[in-house]
Amino acid sequence: MVRPMSQKSAQPHAAGAAPDAPSASGAPRQRLVNDVFDKVAGRYDLMNDLMSGGLHRVWKSLMIDWLAPPRSARPFSVLDVAGGTGDIAFRIAERSGAGTRITVCDINANMARAGAERARAHDQGEKVSFMTGNAEALPARDQSFDACTIAFGIRNVPDIARALREAYRVLRPGGRYLCLEFSHVDIPFMDALYAYYSDRIIPKMGAVVVGDAAPYRYLVDSIRTFPEREAFAAMIGEAGFSRVRTRVLSGGIVALHSGWRL
Ligand code: SAM
Repeated sequence: MVRPMSQKSAQPHAAGAAPDAPSASGAPRQRLVNDVFDKVAGRYDLMNDLMSGGLHRVWKSLMIDWLAPPRSARPFSVLDVAGGTGDIAFRIAERSGAGTRITVCDINANMARAGAERARAHDQGEKVSFMTGNAEALPARDQSFDACTIAFGIRNVPDIARALREAYRVLRPGGRYLCLEFSHVDIPFMDALYAYYSDRIIPKMGAVVVGDAAPYRYLVDSIRTFPEREAFAAMIGEAGFSRVRTRVLSGGIVALHSGWRL
């Protein structure tokens, strides 16, 4: 069973710890992003499998490998930001011990609702809870999580630097930040093939499966405009994280970034 979704976190802000409000300039972009995920929420999981040929499962699994949640009953708390339908949270739950708790935080109530529905049939629901909230102003106390994960979410956030600072704020010293995101293919020939697939095939798939190509054109554009790997790694460091490392997967289609709050 999944704990009820709520606007309030199980761990609300400590008095005086609330972050700044999200920037007003990000509001139109965020509205566009929310519209996109409103449209795709019901078929999001199916589209992920179709678009990536199932590869997103491998990438997500590699993310959990790197996180290495404890198998023991040791308490371990994870905040999965932009967690959508709970894909990362359920994987962590399956591969962790009884002391692990995962809170999924997503700005879009429809995505979180789809996750909660999916979770009803899920055995690990005791470990997973959902809440709505903005990555730029996380509804969580300072230093309250051991790990903060975000998969295919950061490029949708209008103010990436602010979201990174928020992740840093909610992590305990010794806490880990892990980010899985689309990146840039820089292998000759493969880059052209990937561009063709992104521009021609993905929007068509969206039109057939979701009934609208526009959300998938947005997704392709958002991948193109996301910072290069080195620039993004530098942003993670600027937010305060140490020992920032990057792993490039599938020829650069995606990258995993890791940093520690020390
Ligand atoms: N992490 C999930 C996964 O890997 O399957 C979902 C990824 S989905 C591509 C991106 C998610 O980011 C959507 O659920 C969307 O609602 C969420 N999102 C977009 N902007 C956000 C924001 N500012 N704060 C929190 N979540 C956001």
